[in-house]
Amino acid sequence: MLSTYQYRIKPSDEQIAMMETWLEMCRWQWNRCLGERLDWLRRTRCQIDRCSLHSEPIGEIPERVNYYTQQASLPLLKKEQAEYKQLYAECLQDVLRRLDKAWKRWLVPDSTGKRGGRPRFKKQGDYRSFTYPRVNCSKAGVKLEGNTLKLSKIGEMRIVVHRPIPDGFKLKTCIIVRKADGWYACISAEDKTVPDIMPVDTVRSATGIDMGLASFLTTAQGQKIPIQQYFRKLEKHLARQQRKLARQQKGSQNWRHQKNRIARIHLSIKRAREDFFYKTAWWLARTYDLIAVEKLNIKGLARTRLAKSILDAAWGTFLNILDAVAVKCGKHFVKVSAYKSSVECSQCGADVPKDLSVRVHSCSCGLKIDRDENSGRVLLGRALQTVGLTVSACRGLGNSQPVKQETSGIKYKQLSLF
Ligand SMILES: [Zn+2]
Repeated sequence: MLSTYQYRIKPSDEQIAMMETWLEMCRWQWNRCLGERLDWLRRTRCQIDRCSLHSEPIGEIPERVNYYTQQASLPLLKKEQAEYKQLYAECLQDVLRRLDKAWKRWLVPDSTGKRGGRPRFKKQGDYRSFTYPRVNCSKAGVKLEGNTLKLSKIGEMRIVVHRPIPDGFKLKTCIIVRKADGWYACISAEDKTVPDIMPVDTVRSATGIDMGLASFLTTAQGQKIPIQQYFRKLEKHLARQQRKLARQQKGSQNWRHQKNRIARIHLSIKRAREDFFYKTAWWLARTYDLIAVEKLNIKGLARTRLAKSILDAAWGTFLNILDAVAVKCGKHFVKVSAYKSSVECSQCGADVPKDLSVRVHSCSCGLKIDRDENSGRVLLGRALQTVGLTVSACRGLGNSQPVKQETSGIKYKQLSLF
């Protein structure tokens, strides 16, 4: 498993100036290589319903451009533009690698048939990081020892190791990132000792979580986590600062400072949100062996009037984090269809349609619980079915310690949860 550790670094003024130049040079290289690829594409293709005269290539058709041809042209670039010699060679190669990845993501659909967008040309300041692909091995560009980080061609600087990289982790790559509040080194480390996911028949506790706007999430056991509206809280402050930016002269020193101030507000919103997500995810993964979540269509939901609240809740980010944390703990993370999960009764399966304003699910079978709790239970039921467990009909045990009941001759193992 790869984990990334992000540390703040303290480069000197000269080093900062140098790194800024490097980023700019990487950006030029990105734009040049992207242009080369797009040009090749444009000149070798013609739309199916057009006369070929309309887009007949002028001049010699260039050879096919790919990662290898672009890689091979690097020595020529260094000959023609001497400033590229001062850039660490592996960082320059990584620009091409990133471009190749983005390019393939655009043209080649993945297993679900989805493709990424066209790689874009980057404006000034848009290229924010460069990568050293090797750390702490012989001939590596980066050496990390204690509190000093030694970058090849840039020099030594202090690194704030606020949490140590655990022993036994193999350092892989180092990415130097410029953020609104300073420079960071993101060091990815590989851990070979990932816990295996626990076998299904040892699952002792399970929950389904329903994501909502009234409360951030509700578990099948009825625990609620209040929603944190990080963006809402700072929205007015942000708007004021943005108005201030609009009044300043574009490109001036004050304008640049103001832009940075706004970027910092966004950064702090992101960090507060992420902190909350990690804490919640760890709590869930420690408490339960199996966590069922709904497959969300966030893009679809975000087209409604609740868009701002939905995007502020950032469910998708949370689910990604929860997935990673569950894998780290060896717990099960199951995504199930959310179809009718708020309508179906978790006890008898009947449909109980209700408006969003109705907060209580009350069914003719006698079940009367919170509506989100009901959806949580429905999701849990579906997840248990997909992994091959069933919820026992006996619901009187309390939610602290579910007991697994094994019955021979029955296809599914039984689990009583409520
Ligand atoms: Zn019912």
